[in-house]
Amino acid sequence: MKKHTVSAVAGFLAAAIALCALCAGEVLLARFMRREPLPTSASETEVESRYCVVIDAGHGGIDSGAVGASGVLEKDINLAVARKLEALCAAAGIDCVMTRSEDRLVVDDSVRERRKMHDLKNRIAIAKAEESPIFVSIHMNNFPEKRYSGLQVWYSKNDERSRSLAALIQTYARTFLDPSNSREIKRAGSSIFVLDRLDVPAVLVECGFLSNPDECERLASDSYQTELALVIFSGILEFLADA
Ligand SMILES: [Zn+2]
Repeated sequence: MKKHTVSAVAGFLAAAIALCALCAGEVLLARFMRREPLPTSASETEVESRYCVVIDAGHGGIDSGAVGASGVLEKDINLAVARKLEALCAAAGIDCVMTRSEDRLVVDDSVRERRKMHDLKNRIAIAKAEESPIFVSIHMNNFPEKRYSGLQVWYSKNDERSRSLAALIQTYARTFLDPSNSREIKRAGSSIFVLDRLDVPAVLVECGFLSNPDECERLASDSYQTELALVIFSGILEFLADA
């Protein structure tokens, strides 16, 4: 079994430094460095993690996902946030794998029919190929009414740890992105295929609403995408510290 040791604090600092190097997010970094102290289990102990974080950028290729008011495509924002999350995990020494790193469906070109279903099954297969995966799917929300906004995390009913991971990410989003975000985590039903078919810690993060013009503009910005990645990363890190 592949195991490695992750110090939560060292991991956080390494990732924060990497973040600075990546995007010069000094204001953001200052905010995060003023954060509540990590729980004792995370701040004073070395955490042995055998998990691999499977980062799933939703949609891709011919499947654009939602289209924002400005014409921005969900698939592109999903991938941008996923790449930043990958960089943070790598900087912290946490194993991670991407279901896709390019603008494409996760399906072989030779497959002609039901490509979207094969795409979803392949994403699940990538997670199941890992010995101890944590599945984190990244999406943007969309709704006919423009007024709705805010990040919301869905969790798989098949593994009770999914709820904990979702709650951590939701709490970090409320603390660091928008204290007025009153959204609660939600248990996914069968309509969210990937969460329904995985029996490992699995969440889907709806990062915000592309149908809300103000939030759409934020979601499309590089700096906000970095904040999203850091919020998700912080949830993962605390989850690993307690695992
Ligand atoms: Zn989506």
